[in-house]
Order: sequence, then C-alpha cells, then structure tokens
Amino acid sequence: DNILYKTIDLKKYYLAKKRGILETITRQPPIFVKALDGVSIYIRKGEVLGVVGESGSGKTTLGKILATLEKPTSGSLIFMGIEINDNNEEIVRKHVHMVFQNPATSVNPRMRVKDIVKEAMKNKDEEKVRELLEEVGLDYNYVKDKYPRELSGGQLQRVAIARALAKEPDFLILDEPTSALDASVQSQILNLLVDLQKERNLTYLFITHNIAVARFIADRVIIMYAGKVVEEGDTREVISEPMHPYTQALLNSVPELGKKELKPPSGEVPSLINPPSGCRFHPRCPFAMQICKEREPPLVEVNGRRVACWLYETNWKKASD
Ligand code: SF4
Repeated sequence: DNILYKTIDLKKYYLAKKRGILETITRQPPIFVKALDGVSIYIRKGEVLGVVGESGSGKTTLGKILATLEKPTSGSLIFMGIEINDNNEEIVRKHVHMVFQNPATSVNPRMRVKDIVKEAMKNKDEEKVRELLEEVGLDYNYVKDKYPRELSGGQLQRVAIARALAKEPDFLILDEPTSALDASVQSQILNLLVDLQKERNLTYLFITHNIAVARFIADRVIIMYAGKVVEEGDTREVISEPMHPYTQALLNSVPELGKKELKPPSGEVPSLINPPSGCRFHPRCPFAMQICKEREPPLVEVNGRRVACWLYETNWKKASD
C-alpha cells in the first residue's frame, strides 16, 4: 500500500516534576503529564496531512516523535514498513525533517545564509546552494552573505525551508511554519510550501492551530484534543460537515486565512495531568450526556471518517451490521 508512516497507540508521558527525596521516601506515586495518550495515525506517500489542535493538544509532541527528536513512552512507529527503534532511527533521520515555527531559533545566528544551507547538504556544492535559495524565492546574491538577524521573518523561514530541502527529504514535518509571520507573508509561505510539495512530490505533516490554514493546505486532517485524535478524515468533508463537537466548535471560531487569530472554543483547555474522565471534551461539550463523563469514546470509523464521540454510537452499529 501507499502508507509512508504509521503510528500505533503512541503515548508520551512526561514527569510533571522531578521527584525529591521526600516523595521517594514516602513513596508518592510519580505525577505524569500525558501529552500524547494513545495516538494511531497513518500518512500516505505524497499527501499533506494537517494536524489541528489548540496548544496542549499534543500536536507538536506528535511531530517531534515522528521526526525522532523525542522518544515515545510507548507505542510503535512504522516508517516505510519498518518498525523504528534505537538502532535504526537513522532511516527516519535520512528521509524526515522538521521545520519549526520560529526560524530565528532554528538556524544558527552566527552563520551566513549560504553556510546555513550548505552545512545541511551532503555534497557541499555552491551552485546547489544557489539553486535551493532561488527555489524558495530568495535572491541568492542578496542573501548569501547575510546573517539571520539581517533578514525578515519571512525571508528567514524561506532559508529554514531551503535548509530542510538541502537534506533531500521525502517527508517534512512543518510545525506552525507560518504562525509567527505577518498575515501577507503567511500566505506567501503557504503558497511556496504547496508548490514545493507538488514539484518535489513531498509528503507533509502540517501542524497548525488554525483550521483555515489546514483547509488551504491539507488533503486530510486529524483534529487533536488533550493528547488524543478526536476526528480524522478528508479535509473538505471534515470542514463542510464536522462530526465531532470539538471540530464544530473550532470551525465556529475560525477566522479567514490571514485574518486575526483563531479564538479557541470557550471553556478551559483540560489538564493533561488529570484529564477529565470519559470524553476529555465533556466539560466543554454542549451535547455531553451521562455516558460521556463515565466512558471514553473510542475512535471509530463512521461514514469513511474516524470520530471519537458517543453521539455516533448508533452509526457504528450500522457499520458493523
Ligand atoms: Fe460531547 Fe459526549 Fe461526544 Fe464527548 S462523547 S464530544 S462529551 S457528545
């Protein structure tokens, strides 16, 4: 099949605070932040998968684990059919690269632009550096000897993208790559990413808190809430007819692309140390029922989509008849 990358039941728990001697002597149980709590997703070769959620939903943790920048607490990563472990994560590093939100902190401030790109290349070929910088829409002669601080945020994000391309990746993990930029620059960078994806037949995992950005760029989306996937499907279908109440709330608060920031649905983002019982969205959900407080809804296929919500329980039964 066409699956490039797959995760099975990924979990990432961090220790909320370091245990002191007192906690150890009194045998207090450790307190964990459950940043990612059982995430199974797949990414097809050549697609753009959008990962949408508020901060604290686990989307960046998922990206970092896929890039092998962090290790999961449990669960499996399967890349090109190979189960990834400590001994073979080089395979992922060869093909997968991550581009971060803030280019100013992801490039070396003491290096000139041409060296930032060159350093990432296997064959350190000056002509290739020129090609890459031109491919991302920069004037080579203008930028080559500049330092990061001499460039604008948009120019610098283009340099960071050129640096990622210099490693000849198949799969780019883009973590809010346009969120730190001005609205007009944001759409330029999005258009650049769309063009690069088509021309180079790249696969993207595109992390964003803004569902309008996902609508623009992603073929398929997963919606994350409190460390879990709550809905997954074709972007147009999810956006035109959101099934999960959280997706509905996100869409109700959506700004147009390039306009002001997304206003998250009302209510508190849940604690990841003591997440709400049952469905984690229940304290904010207008449709919450008794069962929602007691039992966690599984992520189940409904009409060609996956949704974790008790409202659709009757549709699961239909599906299994
Ligand atoms: Fe709302 Fe219940 Fe569905 Fe959770 S399971 S989203 S609380 S209706």
